[in-house]
Amino acid sequence: MEHCTPLPFRIGNGYDVHQLADGLPLILCGVSIPHTRGCVAHSDGDVAIHALCDALLGAIAAGDIGKHFPDTSAEFKGIDSRILLRRVVELVQQSGYQIANVDLTIALQRPKVRPYIDAMRACLAEDLHIPLDCISVKATTTEKLGFVGKEEGVATYASILLYR
Ligand code: MG
Repeated sequence: MEHCTPLPFRIGNGYDVHQLADGLPLILCGVSIPHTRGCVAHSDGDVAIHALCDALLGAIAAGDIGKHFPDTSAEFKGIDSRILLRRVVELVQQSGYQIANVDLTIALQRPKVRPYIDAMRACLAEDLHIPLDCISVKATTTEKLGFVGKEEGVATYASILLYR
């Protein structure tokens, strides 16, 4: 079958991981978080926005973030991931769908993300053009287990729903 049945909804999920290293900035959902370690990345390393971009692209079956913004391209070196997110939102708008809601889970052992959640949601609301109560950002540790627990990396899971 070439085309899927045109339902008024599309679902998307995204997942991203970045390695943490000493002395790098830690930016999550567009918010700079004071910490001794940050993400190793070609861009600004905003793992949460990367997972969100993949969820949005997944929902419109438009590939993934690496296809649209290759990490081999000088154009994207050190880029603010919010710029990438805004470009992805444009693609979603062109597809004829609108964003219903977003739910993110950031897995990070340290530092505590909770104090920054409201600022993160505000950043995403601005870029996604949807109300704050349609945006959920959650954080969890992994109880010191695995690469997140050992503070070697940070991961984010993203779910989104589109409608028209
Ligand atoms: Mg990434």
